[in-house]
Parts: sequence; C-alpha cells; structure tokens
Amino acid sequence: MNPSGTPPRALVVVDVQRDFCEGGALPVPGGGACATRISEHIARARDGYAAIVATQDWHIDPGAHFGDPPDFVDSWPVHCVAGSPGAELHENLASAVEIPGALDAIFRKGEHAAAYSGFEGHDAEGVGLGDWLASRHVAAVDVVGIATSACVKATALGALAQGLAVRVLVDLCADLADPPGMTEVTLRELAQRGVEIATASPPRGGADDLTAAPRRAE
Ligand SMILES: [Zn+2]
Repeated sequence: MNPSGTPPRALVVVDVQRDFCEGGALPVPGGGACATRISEHIARARDGYAAIVATQDWHIDPGAHFGDPPDFVDSWPVHCVAGSPGAELHENLASAVEIPGALDAIFRKGEHAAAYSGFEGHDAEGVGLGDWLASRHVAAVDVVGIATSACVKATALGALAQGLAVRVLVDLCADLADPPGMTEVTLRELAQRGVEIATASPPRGGADDLTAAPRRAE
C-alpha cells in the first residue's frame, strides 16, 4: 500500500508491435493510433503506476500458430518472428518507451508455441510476468494494447488468475475487424468474469483518476 491507501497498480502494454499495426503482417485496424494513445497515456500517467511493462509476441518456431493458409482463429499468417522488424515495438510507442526508465521490463512469449497471454511471457532473465509483478507487490493492473479479443483478453484473464484486480482501458486498445461485434462480445465476457472495463480518457477528475498508486511506491 502507498500513502493514499490504494494498491500498487502496473500498466501492461500488450503486443504493440509493428506486425500488428498498419503495414505489418497481421495488421489490426487502428493499431498505430492505439500506439500513439498509449504513448500519450504513459507520458501523462506514468508517475501513477508502480511499474510499466510491455509484452511482445516473439516467434521462433511456433508450430501450428502459423498457418498456410491460416484460419484466423487458431492459425495466423507468419508474424512477429523473433528479431525481425515486425516484432519490434511500434514506432509510435517507441517514442514513449525510449524515455529512460519509462518501461520497466519486456516480457516475450510464444517462441515455440502459441502464447496469447502476457503471463506466458518472460523477461530477459527468464522471470515470468506474474512472478515479476508479485515481487513488486503489484495488486492491480491496467491492460492495454493489441488485440482486444486476442492477447489483451488473454492477458486480462491471466491477470485475474494471478489474483490481481484487472482493468482494461478500452480506448487504449485496438481489435481485429472480424467477425463484426467481436469486441463487444469480448468486453462483455471480461466484465462478467470480473474485469473492470474503463477508459483512460476523458479523465473524470484529471488523469490521476486512473493512476491509483505512486510509481515505485514501496
Ligand atoms: Zn503470435
């Protein structure tokens, strides 16, 4: 707990990578603009987070996750190949995360199998996201990124499974276009399972509304 009595909250930025944005291998409509909005949110609200982390889809040989042809349900076009330009964080996000200390860690997932949840990822030292957050006494997360009905959803559910309080900031997410209405179905399901569906803007009483805990409050 910090002096304000609210639990330390982390921001988890899911898969905001070039291949998931316009011009990439598996583009999600609005991905680039989503990256910009997340950057603006980080600039505005970073002091309110105990930690800010990102996840990256990072495929070496993920087996049936790559389909030829893909079915766009369980198999996908080749994307986010480890070390490729498409696997890099999108440039609209990079402007924010290149600020020294802006991003506390990156968790990569999916090297040899499909991995939708960021909680399947690990940092450069091999520490999983769940253990990493627990070691920093994080009790709540804001989940944002790409795509709402895929890795954002899986990461939000992964956070619930860790016992964290979970909020999805829908205006900082982008989703696949097909099938129509999928985003609404996803958000309804998440809400039913205990995820708070919220927005980062417009702030109700200032941006600090969404930044419950001072950064690095320990
Ligand atoms: Zn993937």
